[in-house]
Parts: sequence; C-alpha cells; structure tokens
Amino acid sequence: MILEKELYQQFTFDFYKFMRYRPYSKSFTNELITSLKHHLFLYMKRLTIIGGGSASLMLAAQLDTNKYKVTLFDKKKAMGRKFLVAGEGGLNLTYNSTLEALTPQYFPTEFMAPIIRQFNNKDLMSWLKNHEIPTFIGSSNRVFPVLGLKPIEVLNKIVAYISARDIEFKPDTKWEGWNKEGHLCFEEMEDIESDIVVFALGGASWKVTGSDGGWKNSFEKRGVRVQPLRAANCAFEVDWNKNFIATHEGKPLKNIALTYNEYCSKGELNISKFGLEGNAIYALSQKIQEKLLTEESVVIHLDLKPTMIVDQIRSKYMSSHRSKVTDILNKDLNLDRTSIGLLKQFCDKDTFSNPDLLVETIKSVPVILKSAGELDKAISTLGGIALDEIDENFQLKKIPNSYAIGEMLDWYAPTGGYLLQGCFSMGFVLAKFLNGLEGEAE
Ligand SMILES: Cc1cc2nc3c(=O)[nH]c(=O)nc-3n(C[C@H](O)[C@H](O)[C@H](O)COP(=O)(O)OP(=O)(O)OC[C@H]3O[C@@H](n4cnc5c(N)ncnc54)[C@H](O)[C@@H]3O)c2cc1C
Repeated sequence: MILEKELYQQFTFDFYKFMRYRPYSKSFTNELITSLKHHLFLYMKRLTIIGGGSASLMLAAQLDTNKYKVTLFDKKKAMGRKFLVAGEGGLNLTYNSTLEALTPQYFPTEFMAPIIRQFNNKDLMSWLKNHEIPTFIGSSNRVFPVLGLKPIEVLNKIVAYISARDIEFKPDTKWEGWNKEGHLCFEEMEDIESDIVVFALGGASWKVTGSDGGWKNSFEKRGVRVQPLRAANCAFEVDWNKNFIATHEGKPLKNIALTYNEYCSKGELNISKFGLEGNAIYALSQKIQEKLLTEESVVIHLDLKPTMIVDQIRSKYMSSHRSKVTDILNKDLNLDRTSIGLLKQFCDKDTFSNPDLLVETIKSVPVILKSAGELDKAISTLGGIALDEIDENFQLKKIPNSYAIGEMLDWYAPTGGYLLQGCFSMGFVLAKFLNGLEGEAE
C-alpha cells in the first residue's frame, strides 16, 4: 500500500489545524505526527541501500520517497568519503564530449553505453546545476565544480538534498552478509528484512574511504561470481637505473604519447621510485593489466615528441650547429633533462650516437613494465561482480530484489570524470527503474 505524499501532507496540515483548537502542547502534537508517520511508513515498501558513495548518492536523490521508505547504510561516519578523496587532485565530475566519443571510453562498451545514454554528461551537468552545483569545462574537456566550490561543499549540497527527502541515513553500520533466512546482517545491529536491497559497496582501493572489497566473500557464498579485484588507473613498476631515478624521481614527462599495441593515449606521466604513473598510463591500465595476467612484463612505447613526425625531428637534428647530442636534444628539440635521461636509460650507446636511430627512438622509447602498483593506491578497481550475474536492470539473478551498482560491478573507465559519470548514471538509471516498479517486490 502506498500513501501519496500530497495526501499525507494535506492530512498532516488538517491534523495540525484540528489540534490547534485542542488543549495539547505543540510538542505533544509533533510526537503524535511522528508516530503517525511511522505507522504510515509501515505500509510502504522498504528499500535498503548499502554503501553511501557516488552511485548511491544519485540513486537516493532520484528514488521516489512516496513509494519507498529508504534507509541508507554506510560503515563510515559519513557518506561519500571516496568522492572527497577524488576531489583532492581536482574533482573531475564528468568529461565533456559528444555521446559518440564518450561511450567508447567505457568497457565493456555494450554494457555501459545504454546506461550512459540514459543519463549522459550533459544530463549530469544540468542535474548538478539544478542542485546549485555549477560546473565549468576545463581546457582538457574535464568538467569540474565551478572555481571556488570545494569538493566538500559539492558533497554537502548533495547530502543535504538527500537528507531532506525522508531518507534515513545510518552511519557506522557495517553490512556483514545474509543470515539463513536471507535477511541482511549488520555489525552490532539486529538483522533486517527489506523488500528491495541495493548494494553500492564500491571497489577495493583506498580502504580508508570504506571501499575495501570486503563484500566479495559474502556474494561468493551466495553463488555470485566475482571477478578478481585488481588495480586500475594505477602505477606500473619499472626497473629504473639507479642514477636515473636518483636524479629524476618525482619529475613529470609532459605532453607525451604512450602506445601499447594498437592503443594510444596522450597526456602526462610522473616518474616515481616504483615506476610510472599519471593519466597517460592510467588510460591504458586495463589493457596492460590484462597482459600482465599471462606475461611477466609488458613493453610500452613513449613518444616524447607527439606533435612532430620523424622527418621533422630529423631535419631539426641535422640542421643543428651544436656538437653534443644532449645539447641538440635539449636546445634544438626542446627535450627536458628527464626526457633525455629516459632516452639514455633505454637506448644503448650506439643508438644514442646514431642520429637516425636516436630520432626514431625519440618517437618510440621502449619501456618495460613489470607489474601493476598496489590495489589500495589505485584510482579504481578492475573486476567485481561479473556482469552476467545481473540482469538488464542491475538485479542480481541469484538474489531476487537485490541490485548492485557502481564500482563493485566489473566495468572499467579511465580517469578524467568517466568513473563518477558511470556511477552517477547507474544510480540514476536504477532509480528510474525502481520508481516504475509496480508492487512486484514481495
Ligand atoms: C584518488 C582517487 C581520485 C579519483 N578521482 C576521480 C575523478 O576525479 N573523477 C572520477 O570520475 N572518478 C575519480 N575517482 C573514482 C571515483 O571516486 C569512484 O569510481 C567512485 O567514487 C565509486 O563510487 P561507488 O559509489 O561505486 O563507490 P564508493 O564511492 O567507493 O562508495 C562505496 C561505499 O560503500 C561503503 N561500504 C563498503 N563496504 C561496506 C559494508 N560492508 N557495509 C556498509 N558500507 C560499506 C563504503 O564505506 C563507501 O562509502 C577517484 C578515485 C580515487 C581513489
């Protein structure tokens, strides 16, 4: 039985009017109203969301609270801890491009494209604007909150909106699986039964934010296949030569292109003691990780001069009046010390002293990657609930009336706003579906 909110509000208004003429105090009247509301809620479907990250923030913001009594549980004290971490390096809320260019960034594209199409980057930007979160498009086409609006303010605005929608938030409440009856078990709380459950428990990186992949075993016990959780958008290990790393640790390689097989990405890399990190390598992390499942190492190629073709570089090199190779590279070809150091590490002496070979190498420095960085330090997680375990509406085939969204599903996107867009889109699409359900959940 569903009570229409307008009717309820009208009733409350009339009830207040009626009580005004009675000799009861305001607090007594309020108590009565609260109790009445509680009893009316008993007739509504109970919808439980577990995990208070980006995916469920959007879900909670869109769910029909006239239809569902919604409770959101998170094991952390507050919602959106990873959203805040994402904001530390500049919060990319989405990526500004055409839909045709946006959807192929997601893997598997055939799974993600219909979700993104239903709530795309433009929809997200106008949703944010309507919730007093104006955005701006950066020069790289990444979309940020407007200058001066901090990530915590963005989060607070969304949380305030949700809190005003009759959605109960239960912080510090860790979900621990199901009991024999299939009811939800929580740490230090009684088991609960819910008509509908949505899991949005996140991936397994940045454990400090609450997303630790601890949910994996519980789902596997119910027969749900979970693909191994591995680092994505992460650093990769390189066996640096001692002199190189002593001089260049922490230095960037700006405006480079990185190629792995037929895949190419442009951007920036950072040299760390462990190896290489930065958006250019994050973008290919899924492909590299796939190879590392079967091979001990992977060779990528760096193009240190992506805006010039080999002939242009050669002619600049040959027309130089300088005698030292390093000077030509630095002064005529504008390569910085770190790029030159990199060339020296990955070229033998013969190549370095042969202009033709050296020019070819500038366009394609071979770098050997040995392993992926730690999962906990990764920006996102590969693996998660296998996509054939859910139906087209995110419902777990083996656990009826239970749904899973967000990073805990086995999909991938590069950094740059695609991940948050993916999570927000899933929350939106699932809310739309659940709002349209006709009393099917029993
Ligand atoms: C450093 C960093 C920077 C990033 N930058 C960007 C960026 O700029 N742009 C972008 O698009 N993406 C970025 N991301 C990725 C993005 O933040 C995530 O993909 C997204 O937040 C995932 O949302 P989610 O809702 O799936 O899960 P999460 O946001 O991880 O939320 C999952 C929630 O579930 C809760 N939970 C887990 N287990 C339990 C349990 N057993 N019981 C109760 N609660 C539980 C957790 O406490 C957590 O609050 C970044 C990530 C990191 C780590």
